[in-house]
Amino acid sequence: MKKLTIAIDGPAGAGKSSVAKLVANKLHYLYIDTGAMYRAFTWEVLQRHVDIADPKSVQILADTIQIRLEIGREQCRVYVNQIDVTDAIRTSEVSSHVSAVAALAVVRQKLVQLQREMATSGGVILDGRDIGTVVLPDADVKIFLTASVHSRAMRRYLEVRERNERETLEHIEAAIASRDYMDSHRDISPLKQADDAILLDNSELNLEETAAALMKIIEARRQ
Ligand code: C5P
Repeated sequence: MKKLTIAIDGPAGAGKSSVAKLVANKLHYLYIDTGAMYRAFTWEVLQRHVDIADPKSVQILADTIQIRLEIGREQCRVYVNQIDVTDAIRTSEVSSHVSAVAALAVVRQKLVQLQREMATSGGVILDGRDIGTVVLPDADVKIFLTASVHSRAMRRYLEVRERNERETLEHIEAAIASRDYMDSHRDISPLKQADDAILLDNSELNLEETAAALMKIIEARRQ
């Protein structure tokens, strides 16, 4: 059977990574979390106190940084210059800076190239903001996965509580809305649905139902 390339785009908290992981496991495909790569770059920016308003410093970082994804069945581990940053890139500090870093052309050039290299063999699911529009415009399947801000914030809130971290639902909702705004209004590769992407709103669906809806779309393309 043909090994497809599958692009899943959508705003923060729509459950792209959970559903992409599940579907990748079912299909024995590789799951590539492109948001993790922008987070990894941001982590390094914060570690080194790089001034992102200074293009030269960002360029030097982009030329030297090594970002590697180690893709396993259960988890995708993320390394920056051989340091495992899988957990460190999920902090709210990284989340609050990532959209500004991801808006920089040099950062996008570097990471888009890496993502295309990782996708060349097919049998891959990439999730992000610009996969169907920029990274893989010829992807076999393109999904735009979204949900209301409230239901996305609620999911994050439950995750945060499970980790025993303190954050109010209002704060999470505001942070998600602000990230949506920045991601959709940046000049380069803004978050938007590709013309040929299928819109899937999962405000009222749980993870399994979302995965089932996605599998249906994919199966139709595999015929
Ligand atoms: O998917 P996740 O929420 O982890 O992505 C973190 C951030 O990385 C997004 O808010 C966005 O600013 C950026 N991003 C991007 N393009 C992608 C994936 C993520 O700009 N393909």
